[in-house]
Amino acid sequence: MKEIFLLKLGEIVLKGANKRQFEARLRANVRRRMRFYGNFDVYLMQSTVYVEPMDEECDIDGAWEACRSIFGVVSLCRCRPCEKDLDAIFEAIENYLGDDLDCAKSFKVESKRSDKAFPLGSIQISQEIGGRLAEAHPNVKVDVHHPDYTVFVEVRDLAAYVHGPAEPGAGGLPTGAAGRAMCLLSGGIDSPVAAHMMGKRGLEIECVHFFSYPYTSQLAKDKVVELARLVTKYTGKMTLNVVSFTEIQEAIRDNCPEEFFTLIMRRFMMEISMRIAKHDGCGALITGENLGQVASQTMEAMTVTGAVVDIPIFMPLVGMDKEEIVTIARKIGTFETAILPYEDCCTVFTPKHPKTKPTLEQVVNAERKLDREALITRALENIERIKVAYHDEAVL
Ligand code: ATP
Ligand code: MG
Repeated sequence: MKEIFLLKLGEIVLKGANKRQFEARLRANVRRRMRFYGNFDVYLMQSTVYVEPMDEECDIDGAWEACRSIFGVVSLCRCRPCEKDLDAIFEAIENYLGDDLDCAKSFKVESKRSDKAFPLGSIQISQEIGGRLAEAHPNVKVDVHHPDYTVFVEVRDLAAYVHGPAEPGAGGLPTGAAGRAMCLLSGGIDSPVAAHMMGKRGLEIECVHFFSYPYTSQLAKDKVVELARLVTKYTGKMTLNVVSFTEIQEAIRDNCPEEFFTLIMRRFMMEISMRIAKHDGCGALITGENLGQVASQTMEAMTVTGAVVDIPIFMPLVGMDKEEIVTIARKIGTFETAILPYEDCCTVFTPKHPKTKPTLEQVVNAERKLDREALITRALENIERIKVAYHDEAVL
C-alpha cells in the first residue's frame, strides 16, 4: 500500500465549541495547498488530517514539504497504511522502516489504538510487535526508556498505520481562523517576520508596500514582491498593494520641518494602510516595529503614528532582540532576500536629527501646510495590486 501523511492538530484540539469550525478550516486549507501537487484526498478523523495521494502522478515530496508549512498542524508524519492485523503491521514495518531500524542502536515500539474494537490493547500491540522486530533485527537492542529510534503503530478506524518519529509542524492556528489583517511590508528583515508571526495566530495576511520611485529602484520593489512570495509559503496567497509614495514624501520634504519628516511620513503610511485594510476586509494592521530600534520606534513616536489609526496595530516583534528576529527570518527563509542592499523609502530624506520624543500637538502642527486628504486620496487612486502566490516564479 502507498504512503500517506498524517497531520496532527495542535491548539485547535482545545477549542471547545469552535473546534469543528477550526477543523473544517484546516482541512480546507490543506486541500487547497495540496491541489498544486496532484490529486490528493484530504479528510479529517480523530483530530488528524489524512493526506492521501490518489494516483501515481502526485508529487509526494513537494506535498510533504508544503504540509510542513501549514499553520494549525502541530506535528506530522509520513506513514504506511496496512491491514489491522499483527502480521500485516509487522510486514509493513519491515518493508517501510526496516532500513531505518537497522541504522539505530536501540528501539522501542509505541502503539495507539483508537479503534476500540481491535482485540489487543496498545501495550500488548507494542510488546507483540517489539518482540517480532527484536528477533528480526538482533543487532538492535530494545530500550523502552531512551531508544535511539521509535516505531509507531496507530490502529485507527480505517486502517493501521506505521511510521517513524513525527516531525514538528508549523504550529499555530489555521490561516483565516482569526480573520484577516494588513501587514506593512518594507524590504527589511522585520516586517516579513511580523507577517509570519501573526499569520501563525490564524490571520490571513494581505500586504501594503510604500514605494518612492525614482528615489527607490525597481529592484527594491522586486525584492518586496519576492519577500511577499516567501511569506505566502506559510500564509497562503495574498494581494500586495504597492502605493506610490513619491508625491507624499516630496510634499513633506518641501513643507514640513526636517526633524518631523519620518514621523509625518509614518503617519501617512499608517492612515493609507488602514484605509486599504478597511476596504479589503482587514481588521488590524501589522508592523515590524521594535521598541527602541530606531528613532521612530519610541513610545512617544508610536503614540503619534498610532493616533491616525482606529483599528488595532499588531507589533509582534516589539519586545524581541534582533538576534531572535534574525533566527526566525532564517528559519522561515526570508533572511537572505531581506538583506539584499536595496533602498527602502524610509531611508529617503531621513532627518539628521529626528525627534525621538515628539508630542502629537507638535506633529500635527508640523503637518499643517499639507493637504493630507488630497494627498491620501491621490495615493489611494494609484495603487498597484499585485497577486502573489508561493508557486509564482521568483522575480529576483
Ligand atoms: P523592517 O526590517 O521591517 O524594514 P525596520 O526595522 O527597518 O523594519 P522601520 O524602517 O522603522 O523599521 O519600519 C518599521 C515598520 O514600518 C516596518 O517593519 C514595516 O512594518 C513598516 N514599513 C517601513 N517601511 C515601509 C514601506 N516602505 N512600506 C511598507 N511598510 C513599511
Ligand atoms: Mg526598514
